[in-house]
Amino acid sequence: MSNSGRKSPRKAANDLTVLLRTVLGEDRFPVDVEALALEISRNYEDPITAVKGVDIDGFEGMLRARRKKPGWQILYNTEPRYRGRERFTLAHEFGHYLLHRRPLTAAHYRNGELSDDFDFECLPLQSNDWKEAEREREEEADTFASFLLMPIDDYRSQVGDQEITRDLLGHITDRYGVSLLAATRKWIEFTDTRSAMVVARDGFALWGRASTSALDGGVFIRSGMPIPDGSVMAMGSASQHANSARPVSLPDGVWTFSRGSEPVRELAFFSDRLGISVSLLQFDGCGGGANIEEEEPWDSYDQFTRQPPR
Ligand SMILES: [Zn+2]
Repeated sequence: MSNSGRKSPRKAANDLTVLLRTVLGEDRFPVDVEALALEISRNYEDPITAVKGVDIDGFEGMLRARRKKPGWQILYNTEPRYRGRERFTLAHEFGHYLLHRRPLTAAHYRNGELSDDFDFECLPLQSNDWKEAEREREEEADTFASFLLMPIDDYRSQVGDQEITRDLLGHITDRYGVSLLAATRKWIEFTDTRSAMVVARDGFALWGRASTSALDGGVFIRSGMPIPDGSVMAMGSASQHANSARPVSLPDGVWTFSRGSEPVRELAFFSDRLGISVSLLQFDGCGGGANIEEEEPWDSYDQFTRQPPR
């Protein structure tokens, strides 16, 4: 498929942000993705005509071509394990619509039925099986969703110079109607502070990401990395620190990365439902990377081996 003339996911989301700000003003959060998708797509010959929650095992969201005439449906899974991610899933599917769909015309319905397969079925938990092109497409849809739901300028103004606390993250997830994982990941992606997040299960990192400045200082989280003893994450959900409103200060020697260890403030979240724990690590100082020669070039895919969490 040619990409010529196609908007980047970020540009497509930002254009809608400008529109929403113009129409709704500052009080436009959380973004009503369903209304937006229905309204925007009316301008096309193959509009989105329905957004439905369904209880079908096997996919989290779907952009489905209508079978009888040009148009689309967005379907999202209502199973409990996907709770809190519905808005992100809708935005992801809307992203496929704007960025990736093959536009449907009456010519595709010559015999009164759609024959070819135009659908997008999104299976984040099986992404290890994705081919490169599929992975790129899925990441673009996620990027679109992230920027549509959480515009960076607005997010930045909500946080200001404050330390990230449990309450502040709660405010962010409420404002944007997204999961804790999506909100934390977004923060890591744009913050100028030295921060990192780790998602773990059974004592090992599933996925992690460091902010740009933390990465420059040698904070690199590999999938499979053991969660260190003495971390709040390792102490578990029953520990006195598990629900601490503020990050817990830990001395150096606990969290250790490729260029050594330093003190860190750790805020941990435990989800029994998902069977995972999440830690946000905030570092003081400027790190030790400035005078150390560069390691191998960083590739964003190196930081995770499976679909990043939403
Ligand atoms: Zn998808």
